[in-house]
Amino acid sequence: MADVSDWRLMGQERYLQGATLVFRKWTSDRPDWDHDQCDFCTVHMGDHVFEDDPDTKLEGWVTEDGMHWICNQCFEDFRQRFEWVVATPERSSNRGQSAGREQATIASTSGLNCPDNAPTAGGR
Ligand SMILES: [Zn+2]
Repeated sequence: MADVSDWRLMGQERYLQGATLVFRKWTSDRPDWDHDQCDFCTVHMGDHVFEDDPDTKLEGWVTEDGMHWICNQCFEDFRQRFEWVVATPERSSNRGQSAGREQATIASTSGLNCPDNAPTAGGR
């Protein structure tokens, strides 16, 4: 758990407290903009893994205005402190069942039907 003295905290609450976040693949709407960085740990986020940073994240949490990216690790560490609201991704807006879709995604990461994506298997 993160506490007040976490090194990643640099006043983000001024613009991220209670923010609405969407989980999606990193994309750019500008050809000259090839990456962002996590607002907390500054890990690179891009549409491919950069040669100089094998830890590049290809997806993460972003504010609705697309201004601020947060990696999944920092999201998990700070979501309660910042009281983030998880928004429904745009891509499912034409299905009319977006809320159920999100639930299904969360369930699958619990290792129910997707062994390759079950980091919690075996406990830690
Ligand atoms: Zn981060």
